[in-house]
Amino acid sequence: MTVTEAPTVALLGTGTMGLPIGRNLLAAGLPVRVWNRNADKAKPLAEQGAELAGSAGDAVSGADVVITMLYDADSVAEVMRQAAGRFAPTTTWLQLTTVGVEGADRLAELAEEFGLIYVDAPVLGTKQPAEKGELVVLAAGPAEIRPTCQPIFDVIGSRTVWLDRPGEASKLKLVVNAWVLAVLEGIAQSLAFAEGLGLDPRLFLEAVRGGAMDAPYVQLKGNSMLAGDFTPSFGLSNADKDAQLILRAAERAGVQLPIAQAAHEFFVRAIQAGHGEQDMAAVFLAHRPG
Ligand code: NAP
Repeated sequence: MTVTEAPTVALLGTGTMGLPIGRNLLAAGLPVRVWNRNADKAKPLAEQGAELAGSAGDAVSGADVVITMLYDADSVAEVMRQAAGRFAPTTTWLQLTTVGVEGADRLAELAEEFGLIYVDAPVLGTKQPAEKGELVVLAAGPAEIRPTCQPIFDVIGSRTVWLDRPGEASKLKLVVNAWVLAVLEGIAQSLAFAEGLGLDPRLFLEAVRGGAMDAPYVQLKGNSMLAGDFTPSFGLSNADKDAQLILRAAERAGVQLPIAQAAHEFFVRAIQAGHGEQDMAAVFLAHRPG
């Protein structure tokens, strides 16, 4: 879609997710100023018409909307602090990074300190949905700001789930990611179990295919695991960052999450074996016998 009254957007972070998000904003005709710590990674957006900013402060200066798509709450706070004093008075801050419950609260306080309108807006979906503009945006922010945000969310996503209170979007994001970890762990476990029993692990994918226990994700990640194709859609270290956010939030809530705990432990093993920069599907390697 094309946004008619185009707000100027400052995009901070052009990693796996930020880059395609930027591409879609530009394709929709929005003026985009972009900054990334490693400037080379922002350059592809200049070819599409983005203004490359030399600092986070230069990017946000005069922007109507600031989007952060960085690593965690600390990196977001650090970058926003670098831009302090450069925000326009009515700037809306769409915070897309996965930061967890405490992180979302901390960033809400930062928004208040800087006089920004804060929208807690983590996203569901990985690299490919980001490229297609088919993310699901979980958004919590003031009701009066929704008409400003919605056209931007419609560019980067296929659906927006609005929640009432700030921080609720980040809570829901953790709930969904706990499910992602459960499915990923389940696939890795069954494939490794099949191998351990002397079966061809492809038989697992074949047996569940098309039935009630199948899911597109099972075939996608299962085939990647077996092919050893770990091109990052969602980096393994990044996934472990989320596992830790989930476990911290669960502990505070008094809920036990044994599958998320196991996912974290196997992620740590995979990171120690040198797979942190690969896709999280590489956790399979930590499950393999021997
Ligand atoms: P990524 O490819 O690792 O990109 C991370 C970005 O954060 C890069 O732009 C990186 O800059 C920047 N960054 C990290 N630490 C920084 C610091 N201290 N100061 C300034 N910039 C810093 O990660 P991603 O996959 O795009 O994920 C981004 C966020 O979205 C994460 O919170 C992730 O959990 C979440 N998410 C990811 C997916 C997915 O499938 N990939 C899906 C949903 C949500 P450099 O380029 O300079 O390193």
